[in-house]
Amino acid sequence: MARVALVTGGTRGIGAAISKALKAAGYKVAANYAGNDAAAEKFKAETGIAVYKWDVSSFDACAAGVKQVEADLGPIEVLVNNAGITRDTAFHKMTLEQWTAVINTNLGSLFNMTRQVIEGMRARKFGRIISISSINGQKGQFGQVNYSAAKAGDVGFTKALALENAKGGITVNAICPGYINTEMVQAVPKDVLEKNVIPQIPANRLGEPEEIARAVVFLAADESGFITGSTLTINGGQYMV
Ligand code: NDP
Repeated sequence: MARVALVTGGTRGIGAAISKALKAAGYKVAANYAGNDAAAEKFKAETGIAVYKWDVSSFDACAAGVKQVEADLGPIEVLVNNAGITRDTAFHKMTLEQWTAVINTNLGSLFNMTRQVIEGMRARKFGRIISISSINGQKGQFGQVNYSAAKAGDVGFTKALALENAKGGITVNAICPGYINTEMVQAVPKDVLEKNVIPQIPANRLGEPEEIARAVVFLAADESGFITGSTLTINGGQYMV
């Protein structure tokens, strides 16, 4: 029986590549998204992957969304916490809204989503929880106090939850991508990318979403059961830990 995988923010960027790679690996995939219906419909038409709209920063919306996915596809065995946003500005100018939106979407969502599936995974003695953190959670980034704090929190969440569930067949891992060629990074002005960002990357290029997706497929596999609590950096050599 094909395992069921849910990818948050699974209709665009890195998440879309993850959804497609999991489908190609034989999973039944559900892709969540927030509000970009046009992108989601296009993704659905191109891939045949089921799409589900809800806001991962809302606990109640996650509860209802997971219930619907499980009714449609079956119990979720692989959860990929990928949805994320940025609201960049220097901290001394940061508003409470910019702080809260980023913390709730990038970190609160890990509680909101994982809490819905963990009891079922524990009962079935199998689960894979993979969260997309960031290089900027590892090293900090100018203009991203909110984002760096949330992404560092994702790693702490991963380690503690891995400890609690290591005996039960559930693995919990984080991936820290460097700069990946998606709309999130395309929002950075081209000259800033070329003059400031790419020269800091030893590989001398942005990463591609598919390069993150293949790591998710690896961590999701039944055969990866001894890998838990790990943080996998995928950044072209930009930051080595
Ligand atoms: P994109 O902006 O390209 O796509 C984001 C996806 O997340 C979209 O599907 C979006 O839905 C969804 N999303 C955003 N907010 C919510 C929400 N509240 N509820 C549900 N879904 C939501 O992002 P990337 O693909 O670039 O990033 C994916 C993840 O990787 C993020 O966590 C990001 O922080 C992380 N990351 C990205 C890096 C990069 O260089 N791109 C580097 C390191 C980490 P919709 O289409 O409806 O807007």
